[in-house]
Amino acid sequence: MSSAGTYLTHLECSACGVVHDADQLQTVCRSCGKVLLARYDLATARVELSRDNLAGRPRSLWRYVELLPVRNTEHVVTLGEGWTPLLPATGLGRALGCGRLWLKDEGLNPTGSFKARGMSVAVSRARELGVTRLGTPSAGNAACAMSAYAARAGVDAYVFMPVDAPAMNQAECVAYGAHLFLVKGLIGDCGQIVRREGQARGWFDVSTLREPYRAEGKKTMGYELAEQLGWRLPDVVVYPTGGGTGIVGMWKAFDEMEALGWIDSRRPRMISVQSDGCAPIVRAFQQGTPNAEAWPNAQTIAAGLRVPSAIGDYLILEALRKSHGTAVAVSDGEILEAMREITRLEGVFVSTEAAATVAGLRRLIEAGQVDSDEEIVLFLTGSGLLTSEVVDVARPVLDPGDVEGCRRAIDREG
Ligand SMILES: *Cc1c(COP(=O)(O)O)cnc(C)c1O
Ligand SMILES: [Zn+2]
Repeated sequence: MSSAGTYLTHLECSACGVVHDADQLQTVCRSCGKVLLARYDLATARVELSRDNLAGRPRSLWRYVELLPVRNTEHVVTLGEGWTPLLPATGLGRALGCGRLWLKDEGLNPTGSFKARGMSVAVSRARELGVTRLGTPSAGNAACAMSAYAARAGVDAYVFMPVDAPAMNQAECVAYGAHLFLVKGLIGDCGQIVRREGQARGWFDVSTLREPYRAEGKKTMGYELAEQLGWRLPDVVVYPTGGGTGIVGMWKAFDEMEALGWIDSRRPRMISVQSDGCAPIVRAFQQGTPNAEAWPNAQTIAAGLRVPSAIGDYLILEALRKSHGTAVAVSDGEILEAMREITRLEGVFVSTEAAATVAGLRRLIEAGQVDSDEEIVLFLTGSGLLTSEVVDVARPVLDPGDVEGCRRAIDREG
């Protein structure tokens, strides 16, 4: 890797603009409590770093190392995250009537979801700044990713999950050696415990957008999209939205790439898909408000989308509006149907959250908000293995001694 080191300069509050030292541990803005974003010396990078420099680099998100926040690459904690395939979706495209449909298969990331991107970068930077204990509330996938990178980095992980979080997520965290606690409540209750106990115990809280670097990991989805499409962007990006780190990160990446001279000023329409059992961003988008009110009694089979209140709501809504995108809510029934459809037509087994993008696209096509000749990318954020409990596997059981019974059962299957 020929690298001049990171161009990271400082952290800037996305709401009030107050500058923070990037070489100190930071969480949210000390002045207003909103989200801090990492800033880079892009003017110098524009002169020194061209997109041609990327050829031959590692096939992971660390190929963009100068635009990531680690000062010394010895601190990088990697499991090979990122540089996931961008697959043409001919079968699903035909079914939906889309001529140019792509799938970004994030389920191939370590731990089976794109949470690995954010955690690789956040854990790397936290360790570089001296952190030895990490804490997080999580619906499941973020906890697994944090636990994996903590194990690899040799730091302690403290994880707080709702008591009804998927058993697979619980098992995986324990397997990585994390300290796992189950909480009688939702993710917000978990977050309160992390903040209440964490300070005295020295846990660095890596909750979504409450530290500045998970978004930097997720922004690489934007860089990859441009690079994989030959340095242009699609017309439409469909993204299953919970805390919104991915949308916020990609939107930031597009601006960075334009400042670097890598892409022009055209942007995709950014589209958030949520579940109709927890759709605070959809409601706020439709009402035209800059912030989203908390969603009461959030309920959905898409656990990663069960985020009733997102600290980065204003940033998500800004990206949707500036891009002339939109937000759409789908039902659990539509999600399950979409999961069957994409998996059978494309051979990509996706999680419930990822399937929501297919259901959302179907709605948009029916409403005439997306045209059949537009280039569309669906972000398939998690592997179906993460949510396999929703697949109905009631199958015939055969008794090998009952020859006639076997034959009848197989005949019925056709
Ligand atoms: C966390 C998660 C989401 C939501 O991602 P955000 O960037 O926080 O909006 C979507 N899909 C899966 C599989 C997730 O784990
Ligand atoms: Zn601020």
